[in-house]
Amino acid sequence: MKRERLERGMIHVYTGNGKGKTTASLGLALRAIGHGYSVYMIQFMKGDIEYGELVSARNLLTPHLTIRQMGRPDFVNKENPEKIDIEWAQKAFKLAQEVIRGGEHDMVILDEVNVAVDFGLVGLEDLLRLLRGKPENLELVLTGRYAKSEVMQVADLVTEMLDIKHYYAQGVESRKGIDK
Ligand code: ATP
Ligand code: MG
Repeated sequence: MKRERLERGMIHVYTGNGKGKTTASLGLALRAIGHGYSVYMIQFMKGDIEYGELVSARNLLTPHLTIRQMGRPDFVNKENPEKIDIEWAQKAFKLAQEVIRGGEHDMVILDEVNVAVDFGLVGLEDLLRLLRGKPENLELVLTGRYAKSEVMQVADLVTEMLDIKHYYAQGVESRKGIDK
């Protein structure tokens, strides 16, 4: 039996400095999967880190949720990104285009793509073209700080996570199962 597809997919942006952007997108994924939708997440600028969501996708959510990490484990230097960082981001973007064009998935999450654009690893015009050409039945979710105003204009939903308080300020670093 052919599964039900979304009738009118929207474009979401989760941005801002507060915690909750990537996890908001994973919450959406979980909700979508519950109704039989198929979700594909591409994590820009992330690599070789055992994020909990990666393990869950692999062990519990196959084939409903696919996550591809496209990058190095280290931070990218905004002022002077390594050649390999640009190559990774370009590869990630190409994968995004293919996955979206392929039409197999109902929700595509481009995690941290806003940062990749802000750092100049992905062209703003390229992203805008992707958004404008989005298939009607696809829900497209973009996360990451520093979302460009042009991107927010094209989006149907924009939420800015406001950093009021974070335990990071108490010296509590990234914790397994909570922050990674
Ligand atoms: P999460 O993945 O927990 O939803 P996020 O996607 O909103 O967080 P990013 O901007 O991707 O956050 O940052 C990645 C890491 O930085 C996360 O481990 C997160 O806990 C941490 N972080 C998020 N916001 C802050 C903040 N305001 N101060 C310090 N660290 C933060
Ligand atoms: Mg994030």
